[in-house]
Amino acid sequence: MPEGDTVWNTARVLERALVGDVLTGSDFRVPQLATTDLTGFTVASSGSRGKHLLLRVERGDERLTLHSHLRMDGAWRAYRPGERWTGRPAHLIRVVLKTGRSVAVGYHLHEVALIPTATEESHLSHLGPDLLGADWDPDEAAHRIAGRPDVTISEALLDQRNLAGVGNLYKAETLFLSGVWPWTPVRDVPNLERVVRLAQKLVASNKGRWTQTTTGSLHRGQTSYVYGRRAQPCRRCGAPIRKADLDERVTYWCPHCQPEPAGPD
Ligand SMILES: [Zn+2]
Repeated sequence: MPEGDTVWNTARVLERALVGDVLTGSDFRVPQLATTDLTGFTVASSGSRGKHLLLRVERGDERLTLHSHLRMDGAWRAYRPGERWTGRPAHLIRVVLKTGRSVAVGYHLHEVALIPTATEESHLSHLGPDLLGADWDPDEAAHRIAGRPDVTISEALLDQRNLAGVGNLYKAETLFLSGVWPWTPVRDVPNLERVVRLAQKLVASNKGRWTQTTTGSLHRGQTSYVYGRRAQPCRRCGAPIRKADLDERVTYWCPHCQPEPAGPD
């Protein structure tokens, strides 16, 4: 699941494959960039902010940023020239970037845009503090969440305007470890800053590897407390884990460890 850590790792893949080299070819299979050609541009850097990927290229004094978003299903893969592209079906390819030593292929990318690098900040100004960014600020993230007290804590954690980098996996795991029922309104969550700090810790602990674990175990089937474990026994209390599906916003929780708050009498 592409969350902050996956996106950060993907930025490193592109960095190793492309940065420092001149593009010898580009192929954009998205309507808005169909005629764009980045041949001759040098790849200057590869970074991420929340779940947004930022690949910066330059030629002379022209500096551009290729923005892409993985959402639920996107991916970038790097290949050697001549190597078979095995990542995904070809019809999902959205961007191909070639250098003398690498080919980077972007599958099922979303929000593909080429913007002047100078406008990056304003392009992403809606994002809250980046969990994996140098500017990570738990107080600010908690403050932003608290600004909309009627929203459920699940929605608030996913809202990238509050903090950038949490998806369904880390949302579910953070709330389990915090003992908070997923539909609790923000105003009733006892310690927002602690919740936010925990989410950051979980995401950051998976930087640099592709297996996402919140339990500390890298063994298959043991990497999460509740996520992906519908009807399986809670690791703490044995109660069957529950799952709720709302569009893309799937939630898992333990009804015993994360009880629904009692309503007013
Ligand atoms: Zn439990």
